[in-house]
Amino acid sequence: MKCIQVLNVNNFIIKETPLKDISNDEVIIKVCVTGLCRTDLKIIQYGHRDLILPRIPGEEVVGVVYKKGKNVNDFQEGDNVYVYPGFWCGECEHCLKGAENLCNKMQIMGFHRDGGFAEYVSVPSKTLIKIPDGISMEQAVFAEPLSCCLNAIELGGIKPDMNIGIWGAGPAGTLLSRLAKAFHANPFSIEPDENRRKLINGYKTCPDKKFDICIVAVGDINAYNEALTSLNSRGRLVIFSGLPKPNEKILINFNMIHYLEQSIAGAYGCCFKHGIKALNMIANKQIIVDDMISHKMSLFDLNNALKLVAERQCMKIHLYP
Ligand SMILES: [Zn+2]
Repeated sequence: MKCIQVLNVNNFIIKETPLKDISNDEVIIKVCVTGLCRTDLKIIQYGHRDLILPRIPGEEVVGVVYKKGKNVNDFQEGDNVYVYPGFWCGECEHCLKGAENLCNKMQIMGFHRDGGFAEYVSVPSKTLIKIPDGISMEQAVFAEPLSCCLNAIELGGIKPDMNIGIWGAGPAGTLLSRLAKAFHANPFSIEPDENRRKLINGYKTCPDKKFDICIVAVGDINAYNEALTSLNSRGRLVIFSGLPKPNEKILINFNMIHYLEQSIAGAYGCCFKHGIKALNMIANKQIIVDDMISHKMSLFDLNNALKLVAERQCMKIHLYP
C-alpha cells in the first residue's frame, strides 16, 4: 500500500509498504477519507509528546472493513466504520473512571501506532464504531474532531442558557460553537479572520461580556489572557489548545480565581463514547458539518495541504488516499 511516513521532525516521505499481518482481534480498514487537522501540522513540523517515529500519521479516519481477525464477530467485511483513534487498557484507574483518553497505556493511532494517512490501516476491532445509516463518509470523519469538542464542552460543565466564549473559529472552534448551540447555550466566538468568523456569526474582538465557560481553541497566549479576564464568577476556563513551547507558561492572578470562585479544566482528546455520540449528533443533523469542508485533496498532495493549514487558508481539508 501507499502511505505517508514521517521519518523525523519536518521530514516525511511517500512510500510503498506491505500490508501488516493482523492479530485475531484486529481489522484492516480500507481508508476512504481522512481529516487533516492542525495537530497533524504540529506533529510533522515540531513533533509531539505522544509521537513515536517513524510513523504514519492520521487520527481522523473512516473507511471500509477489508479484512478481519478470527475473533472479530461484531464487524463484517464491507462495513462502513469510524475509527476511535485511542486504544486503551480498560483496567487502569483512568479507564475504570471512564476517562480512557487518559489511560496509562494509551496508544493513539497516528502517534504511538500507525494511522490513516495510507491506503489501509490496521486497528484493534474494539476501536471501531459502525457509521449510522444516512450519513456519508465525508460527514462521518468529522466525528473525531467533534468528539474532542464534546469532551471539552462536557468538562466545561455546559448547561442551557450559559454564555460560552470560544476563542478561534477554525474547524474545532466552529464545531464548539455549534455544539454550544446544540446544548441550548449561547456561544460567542472570537475570531479575527473574517472568512472563518462568517460561518458562525462571530466577533472580531472579544465583546465586553462575562462568560460562564471560556474555551480557547487557538494556541495563543493572548487568547488565554483574554479568556481569563472574561470569565464570570464561578466560570470555568477550558484549556482546549495547548500553547507552543517554550511559551507554555502564563501568569494567573490566583486571588481573582479565589474571590470569583472560578475553575480551570484541561481537555485533551476524547473517549470512545464521544465517538458514538458525535456520529449520532451528525446523523440527527444536530450538528451540521457539510459547509465546513473547504478542500478535498489527494493524500499524496500533503505538502500543499499542510501549507494551507499553516497559512490558515482553509477550513477542513479532507484527504483521499
Ligand atoms: Zn487504561
